[in-house]
Amino acid sequence: KIVIIGSINRDYTAQVKKLPEKGETVIASSYKISIGGKGANQAVAAKRLGAQVYMIGAVGNSDGGRDIIKKLESEGIDVSGVLFTEEVTGNAMITIDELGFNTIVVYPGANAKLDSSWIERHSKIIEEADFVILQLEIPLETVETAVKLSKKYNVKVILNPAPAKEIPDEVYKYIDIITPNEVELTQLTGTTDIKDGANMLIEKGVSEVIVTLGEKGSYYTNGQEEIFSEAVPVNTIDSTAAGDSFNAAIAVALCENMNIKSALNFANIVGALTTTKMGAQDSLPYRDEVESFRIK
Ligand code: ADP
Repeated sequence: KIVIIGSINRDYTAQVKKLPEKGETVIASSYKISIGGKGANQAVAAKRLGAQVYMIGAVGNSDGGRDIIKKLESEGIDVSGVLFTEEVTGNAMITIDELGFNTIVVYPGANAKLDSSWIERHSKIIEEADFVILQLEIPLETVETAVKLSKKYNVKVILNPAPAKEIPDEVYKYIDIITPNEVELTQLTGTTDIKDGANMLIEKGVSEVIVTLGEKGSYYTNGQEEIFSEAVPVNTIDSTAAGDSFNAAIAVALCENMNIKSALNFANIVGALTTTKMGAQDSLPYRDEVESFRIK
């Protein structure tokens, strides 16, 4: 059983020839509204990989917010831990140019209202979990409460420190696995050296570090054992949500008692498959796709 505590957004994505300059208006060639937010993406990913998934998050108490939750429910996710607020549903305004470069403006909206008391009210869901996964698109104080509560119940905690922000030193000891990408690792530790950065996080009290390396795969250390797990070659067209599906895959694999080597390989396949389709949730692979890829 996996509990995801994190953001739920509505993504507004416009495709343009060239990103607008300051003060410039450009006309988009296509436009799409979809569900996003790292929390919601990771929940859908974990569900499609076969886990039992609970989502704790917040949306606006409007038709739009309710529609998103219905969609998550239709994926098979338990949404009884979703808070409906007077604030609007969080949203991301994404502009992508011809070369795939983007600009993104996020308004946290309801995500900022997900507070510690809401987490405490759902301690039963957390107590029954194997893993809790968190990201940093909700208030840091809420993340702190959730990791402490998880540890109290001996539930494993995965923190995906995205987007990276400074984490209070005392929080690290509550984290079992931290999963930065290379940029986030540098933001957290100040070094661009992956091994040094990962070891700095171990010294801060995290048990295991997994650094996602995009097309290079992933790097694991627990301070003693080190594993470099090579990426699987695919035809990449859009890497959106690769990190999200990777995190979900690690939790699913470890829930199924795979050893860490197999878990890294499984997550690399899931991340890679996510890059072979456009979009965030549209590209999250189902378990059977992963299994047929493993056989190939
Ligand atoms: P984020 O999306 O958070 O920046 P990464 O880009 O590191 O995270 O991607 C997460 C994981 O997805 C990687 O560790 C890797 O396993 C997989 N992945 C990402 N990009 C590619 C790619 N181009 N080819 C193969 N695998 C990829």
